[in-house]
Amino acid sequence: MKIMVAIKRVIDYAVKIRVKPDKSGVETSNVKMSMNPFCEIALEEALRIKESGQASEVVAVSVGPAQCVDTLRTGLAMGADRAIHVDYPGSLYPLSIAKILKALVEAEKPGLLLLGKQAIDDDCNQTGQMVAGLLKWPQGTFASKVVLDKEKQVATVDREVDGGLETLCLDLPAVITTDLRLNQPRYATLPNIMKAKSKVIKKVTPQDLNVEIKSDLEVVQVTEPPKRKTGIVVSSVDELIDKLKNEAHII
Ligand code: AMP
Repeated sequence: MKIMVAIKRVIDYAVKIRVKPDKSGVETSNVKMSMNPFCEIALEEALRIKESGQASEVVAVSVGPAQCVDTLRTGLAMGADRAIHVDYPGSLYPLSIAKILKALVEAEKPGLLLLGKQAIDDDCNQTGQMVAGLLKWPQGTFASKVVLDKEKQVATVDREVDGGLETLCLDLPAVITTDLRLNQPRYATLPNIMKAKSKVIKKVTPQDLNVEIKSDLEVVQVTEPPKRKTGIVVSSVDELIDKLKNEAHII
């Protein structure tokens, strides 16, 4: 069985985000970019499934500008067997990504599609659900544990929900999106970084996949959150109650 993993290139989680002066988006030039952390977890899970003998190949895919190749190289250095870069320089939203992933799934025929539960740049948390809907495949979202049974062709997925843990049994092929506690992704070792240089990254365009990119939503503006006012230290409970009553008017 082949596993396909969708990985997104995003602004590194440790970077302090700056909004562009014209409020059209956030600054991405000269900013450190990395693999979306939830996608690292998805890739790690695919590699562990392969290492346990339940899958034969891990294919990493990424949609976006030319620099996505760097993110795919990181995925190959972590252990993916090969990669596909869908080259598209413009803005992309979850429905377009889901249509592209559906076309890739139809071409590659994986038994499992793994995605992060959300991308930390847009926080959409939509792509996995949309691609499962388009493919008419069962979905296990926010997975905190995944167990595959190759013989029975099922995946058992634990999901962290408000009331506790929900366990689902999905018929394969299926879509699974990964939550934070599923695993601890590995670091790419130097020998594997070297090996990754000779692994194949195939380049295609949305047109090659017969996917028309139509923007069905428009970002009107992006603004920074209001600055937090500095706090004060009160000297007594009476002063605190006085301030809550007469200044903050909350009691
Ligand atoms: P989102 O719905 O945007 O929060 O993204 C959820 C997941 O969809 C990500 O963690 C990725 O696995 C996948 N995804 C989103 N955008 C892309 C992209 N441009 N290329 C590859 N995978 C993506």
